[in-house]
Amino acid sequence: MRVIYKIDVVFLWVYSVIIVFIGVVGAVSLGNILFPAGALLIETIYLLLSLRRPYRRRRALKQPLPAPWKTFLAEHSLFYKSLDKIGKKRFEQDVQIFLSDFSIEGTRRQAVDLEAKLLVAAGAAALLHGRSTWEPPFQDGVVIFPGDRFDRHYRPGKGHFAGMATRKGPLLLTETSLGESFRDPRDGYNVIYHEMAHYFDLAGASIPWREIFSREWRKASEGRSFLRDYAGTNEAELFAVATEAFFESPWEMKKQSPELYDALKTFFNLDTVKILK
Ligand SMILES: [Zn+2]
Repeated sequence: MRVIYKIDVVFLWVYSVIIVFIGVVGAVSLGNILFPAGALLIETIYLLLSLRRPYRRRRALKQPLPAPWKTFLAEHSLFYKSLDKIGKKRFEQDVQIFLSDFSIEGTRRQAVDLEAKLLVAAGAAALLHGRSTWEPPFQDGVVIFPGDRFDRHYRPGKGHFAGMATRKGPLLLTETSLGESFRDPRDGYNVIYHEMAHYFDLAGASIPWREIFSREWRKASEGRSFLRDYAGTNEAELFAVATEAFFESPWEMKKQSPELYDALKTFFNLDTVKILK
């Protein structure tokens, strides 16, 4: 994640010049003072809207991450703990940007504790770490349900969902699944990695290795995969479960299915076997 992307700066300049140009041309050719005044107003509104996010991100990065937060991250995220100094710094900045950009709240919009927020942000920062121009693949923030499950009508305590990547809405997860995701960093279970992987899948991210995933899915559906059984549900679940394993137990994956490991290594641009310690 970055404060502002080069391509956005280019568009900002191009649109600004066009707006000013229209104002000047209108004033000169029609002699109408309303043109430059209107252009100035539109330019101001345009700049305010476009620069809101970069401004917010810059402000978030002004303060370094508080030391107790770093300690908490190192205790709960094996990925963060394993990074070198430069990698840690970038991870910390991604956490700050994520927290400044995305709401993370309870089902009734009530505040959730800082630790829960840090865990969510740590999951997102790890997944995006290999590609500095990637943004989180969802827009509407994160909602944390009380307890361990909810149903398709979003009723807590019912149904069987521990998390959900809603198509046009927030990422949903439960308090329990979030806690369990970071309890054992090597067990291949992490609801953030899982649901975020679904977004990459839903967003139609180009995955040129469909056959590799299909092959592994067939194995999983017959109970012959090293991945947990849930991977056999369908190919989308295979991708999500494989992503969890890639970030938490990549050693096993590289041994059992090097082609699957290589596919995910290329997709996320990370060599987790080398990174994780
Ligand atoms: Zn899933």
